Amino acid sequence: MTINTDALIIGAGPAGLFQIFELGLLGIKPDIIDSLPEPGGQCTELYPDKPIYDIPGIPYCTGQELIDNLMKQAEPFEAGFHLGEEVVQVTPEDGGFRVVTHIDKEFFAKTVFVAGGVGSFQPRKIRLPQAEEIEGTQLHYRVRDPSRFDGKRVVILGGGDSALDWAQDLAPRAATLTLVHRRDEFRGAPATVDAIRHLESEGKAEIITSATASGLGIEDGRLVAIDVKLPNDEIRTLEADELLIFFGLAPKLGPIAHWGLDINRKTVNVDTEKFETNIPGIFAIGDINSYPGKKKLILSAFHEAALAAFAAKAIIEPGKKVHLQYTTTSPIMHERLGVEADE
Ligand code: FAD
Repeated sequence: MTINTDALIIGAGPAGLFQIFELGLLGIKPDIIDSLPEPGGQCTELYPDKPIYDIPGIPYCTGQELIDNLMKQAEPFEAGFHLGEEVVQVTPEDGGFRVVTHIDKEFFAKTVFVAGGVGSFQPRKIRLPQAEEIEGTQLHYRVRDPSRFDGKRVVILGGGDSALDWAQDLAPRAATLTLVHRRDEFRGAPATVDAIRHLESEGKAEIITSATASGLGIEDGRLVAIDVKLPNDEIRTLEADELLIFFGLAPKLGPIAHWGLDINRKTVNVDTEKFETNIPGIFAIGDINSYPGKKKLILSAFHEAALAAFAAKAIIEPGKKVHLQYTTTSPIMHERLGVEADE
């Protein structure tokens, strides 16, 4: 089944989220896709608790607070959210674009907004022979269903929040749980580190630090053990049914590079009147775009989203005159925002 939409936004970082709002003000209800399971892009992936001081009119907010507010601001426009899906294909067709995600969900969009930032975030992978062979069966970079680890011998590699949170969650349900970290200090929240040390004192988990995985024991195509190199260069073999790896996420331009867009050093060239790419009907906003004087700042993305929305409106409703209206005084904008005139 194809989802038909006037506007499809690729990327739910601050640029993509504000694009919903700007389109919504013009009466356009978009769909939005992100490869991450949560909206927010770099703000929530890289600095959710860190302060931002240069959002106009907001003297201070954290990365997460900004995203929460952008989500709230976009709420009246009821965009279709498709999270945890990577857009792999964008192909021009008569009157629009066919867009396909990695799970083969298909859209037909009259206009497309690429708000892909520095690319889609992908888990950093381990480089060990045969790792790819067991990826998705016994080697995982994210937990989809915690119950699959019940009663299993689980090894977790990593020292950040994801590794620690999952170690804490899975230790009580796994047969054994071993957390292996290459440094002697953890990067994650101290309270979680304390909780896991407590689980270790109860015999429910084991922590091995300053150690790295050096090999996978695979028999008949199945993982049975993991070799870990200890600080004294000794190798310890851990029997294992499941391996979870949390080495962080790295952005990759990924599929965007293959859609026929004019790419300039991992960014997409646009004009500064409409923020349209070399393909009419495809716009690019936020960190992904490039033009003379571009600054990769959130406030630049907001301006770009406003102008791109006006340009898209002219494609979606050709011939219709679009007047600039103020949210303060325009009854039609109040109606779209779902607010009373004097609110
Ligand atoms: P992103 O936030 O990168 O979001 C892009 C989204 O697109 C991602 O979620 C990604 O998963 C998704 N995506 C990409 N490709 C695909 C695909 N093919 N399919 C599906 N989804 C895809 N800026 C400021 O203005 N002020 C600051 O104080 C500030 N502080 C910062 C601090 C740090 C530590 C960092 C790293 C950046 C900071 N920035 C700051 C920069 C700011 O975060 C970026 O300018 C902003 O996030 C760009 O927004 P975006 O929506 O364009 O891209």
